[in-house]
Amino acid sequence: MDLFEYQARDLFAKHGVPVLAGEVIDTPEAAREATERLGGRSVVKAQVKVGGRGKAGGVKLAATPDEAVARATDILGMDIKGHTVHKVMIAETAPEIAEEYYVSYLLDRTNRTFLAMASVAGGMDIEEVAATTPEKLAKVPVDANEGVTPEKAREIVEKAQFPAEVADQVAEVLVTLWKTFVAEDALLVEVNPLAKVADGRVIALDGKVSLDANAEFRQPSHEELEDKAAANPLEAAAKAKGLNYVKLDGQVGIIGNGAGLVMSTLDVVAYAGENHGGVKPANFLDIGGGASAEVMANGLEIILGDPDVKSVFVNVFGGITACDAVANGIVQALALLESKGEEVTKPLVVRLDGNNAELGRKILTDANHPLVQQVDTMDGAADKAAELAAK
Ligand code: GDP
Ligand code: MN
Repeated sequence: MDLFEYQARDLFAKHGVPVLAGEVIDTPEAAREATERLGGRSVVKAQVKVGGRGKAGGVKLAATPDEAVARATDILGMDIKGHTVHKVMIAETAPEIAEEYYVSYLLDRTNRTFLAMASVAGGMDIEEVAATTPEKLAKVPVDANEGVTPEKAREIVEKAQFPAEVADQVAEVLVTLWKTFVAEDALLVEVNPLAKVADGRVIALDGKVSLDANAEFRQPSHEELEDKAAANPLEAAAKAKGLNYVKLDGQVGIIGNGAGLVMSTLDVVAYAGENHGGVKPANFLDIGGGASAEVMANGLEIILGDPDVKSVFVNVFGGITACDAVANGIVQALALLESKGEEVTKPLVVRLDGNNAELGRKILTDANHPLVQQVDTMDGAADKAAELAAK
């Protein structure tokens, strides 16, 4: 989950990374009082989950409370790379900026470790620095067990060639930023710019944080960081039911067991869809190993509630939960939905394979539900589901 800058700023402050005061508002008039509270001057910053706000005109200085209202009026409602600005942060103005640096930590999946990145050429264009002058972007692996000790921070500072007069402060920021990264279960923490200002202080002026959703269970305070207004309603409903669901933009609803099988189901449906006017998978949904009737009913309810869905492909490979249990789950799920008064009108293509497949198929055949048809192969079932969706 990506956070807004003001949320990243709050987490930084909590763990001791130096930041400036700020508050988030959503009406131009509120910019006046917020600016007054900051002593009459402020920086008005668009809160959107995309970089390059500065260049897009989403970061403006205001020398008076009136000016802050004017800048907030300009920025609220602005479109920045497809993101509408609904909130702005009114931040304390930094003393004059002398230098802009870059520091970040991220999960380096390729090398199965964590990575620190740092550069004295920070500011707005770190991607360009990385592309054109990669020698200016120091990369230092961080061992998960050792973390960023003061010694490690010193190593990063030296590798990135920070000037001597800021070395101690940057090292301190690196240690506190690592604390943030670990304590909050982040996948990315980034500060750009980390600014050296006129009075010699080093301050995080912009922050980006991405949190690991897999750690939600031990981070109860993260729930309130979710941008509920922006969440897809189907994904939100699926999440409330504990389902592993991702909305996509196609027409064939997908239910499968096991993430790998569901991923390959998306591929075969997209492939089969090319022969049927380009229909595509409408979602990812992994109902996991124990596909009980209730889980199946919950999954079907979400998928059938998606107005984009024209057909459903249930692709199950029986393992510990055998196909007969899954088949009973499907039959009971349809009955459950119908008993709740939900009209099931979309065709279901079911492919059962693996443990007890024959028994499972017989259960579905005997149930003889008018909307359910069985196809024995994955490719054949994908083709059938795509054909039905294209109708
Ligand atoms: P981004 O463009 O989305 O990365 O937004 P930033 O928050 O990094 O802001 C872009 C630029 O605006 C920074 O690189 C700074 O040069 C400038 N900026 C940000 N905050 C302040 C501030 O408090 N005072 C001044 N003078 N400039 C700022
Ligand atoms: Mn920035």
